[in-house]
Amino acid sequence: MQASKITAVPRTKQPAPMIDKDLDAEIIEPTEKGENLFKLAEKQLQRAFDVIAIDASLQTILKQPKNEIIIHFPVKLSTGKVQLFKGYRVQHNNILGPFKGGIRFHQNVYLDECKALATWMTWKCALQNLPFGGGKGGVKFDPSLHTKEDLEHITRRFTHALGNNIGPEWDVPAPDMGTNAQIMDWMMDTYSNIVSMSDKQSVKRVVTGKSTVCGGSPGREEATGRGIVHCITQWADEARFNLAGATLAVQGFGNVGSNTAKILSRMGASLIAVGDHTGYWRHPEGFNPYKLAEYVRQKGTLQGYPGGESMTRDEFFATKCDIFIPAALELQICEHEAKLMNCKVVVEGANGPTNVEGETILANRGIHIIPDILANSGGVVVSYFEWLQNKRSETWDIEDVRTRLETRMNNTYQMASEKARHLQIDMRTACYVIALERLQEVYARRGIWP
Ligand code: NAD
Repeated sequence: MQASKITAVPRTKQPAPMIDKDLDAEIIEPTEKGENLFKLAEKQLQRAFDVIAIDASLQTILKQPKNEIIIHFPVKLSTGKVQLFKGYRVQHNNILGPFKGGIRFHQNVYLDECKALATWMTWKCALQNLPFGGGKGGVKFDPSLHTKEDLEHITRRFTHALGNNIGPEWDVPAPDMGTNAQIMDWMMDTYSNIVSMSDKQSVKRVVTGKSTVCGGSPGREEATGRGIVHCITQWADEARFNLAGATLAVQGFGNVGSNTAKILSRMGASLIAVGDHTGYWRHPEGFNPYKLAEYVRQKGTLQGYPGGESMTRDEFFATKCDIFIPAALELQICEHEAKLMNCKVVVEGANGPTNVEGETILANRGIHIIPDILANSGGVVVSYFEWLQNKRSETWDIEDVRTRLETRMNNTYQMASEKARHLQIDMRTACYVIALERLQEVYARRGIWP
């Protein structure tokens, strides 16, 4: 038999690889405010350590994440160019259950941000008594500059590069800033294609926040906003404040900001000021949050929305309103903004929006804060419901999901409020104390092996 002839494939000119200019940037970066987010997480934790007796060795364990994963992965973009991306996954603690927390797509994602966000997830899950630990991750790039096709490739390559660092009983990602149900569907599909054929169906719960047709829970998309509203309702009951006719300012009009504003508007509250990465606007008679959300869905930003008058960022923070909801980035309420603010309550939809100096000023001015690990925990609560439904091959009715969420949010709010009253501490520290006491009890019984 004649040996087959190997014909040389002509070499085509390959495009030069494009390297992200930020790729090699220092990975421990301060934010635009000059403050490192992990330092904020450390300061908040220290405050709680000052209030309750936590074993010194446990303090040392909890101060640092267990695992910090950094991945560089190449993606061939629709332009034909190959770009190298930097991805992170930080796994803070898993004594209560699998690591759990979102994946962020944003140009400013950095290691210490993921460390802080993962740490907060540990406290959040422990506070809500969920069988999960804390994790967080992200990819450092601006998703708005990429086509849908590129986003799919970036997501799939990132998921593939993470490999067994995630898993339904090990580490369960979810949506965060810049990601959504579609990104979660691609993550789940990619992961289910790298496990054995017989496991394909059982690994759906490797991520939560999927679309309902792909195994997501009814009510997951609105869950963070709905949980925020339950906290506001509890606060209003305690403060004897009537939500009908209340005025509202919301920074960030993505998933969290828009869902919160929509639900509050149904209770009679009026959205008088709003802003996103493109600017800030006021409307004394109130924006229609449904129309605004539809506009953002189509255009990707609030910019150009007809109605409303443009204002500066400082004017936005100085808006006289009852409820102020930061629902965008971290470190938005620092010393400068806290001095400007003119509201009754700040409800932290975003993670880490207030620094320690800002918080002290707000407290001295009598402005109440409902802290992030409580206020925005509705998202992870319904993520847990989704994980359970997938595990049991069930689909719950949306009313069932909403009722269970309401019960859990109200009970946890009451527990935190009671703890704050009892120990004469602020609400954030009270939430930390509840979470840390739960963790300490488990560590005490399980011990450190070997
Ligand atoms: P998203 O991507 O849907 O929306 C983010 C919003 O923030 C957008 O309107 C964007 O324009 C705005 N924004 C971005 N940069 C800004 C800037 N510099 N100034 C003002 N606005 C800016 O994200 P999301 O899911 O709504 O998350 C918002 C926050 O809530 C994040 O801190 C996230 O970690 C937190 N969070 C989200 C969930 C969830 O279920 N999605 C759960 C808990 C906490």
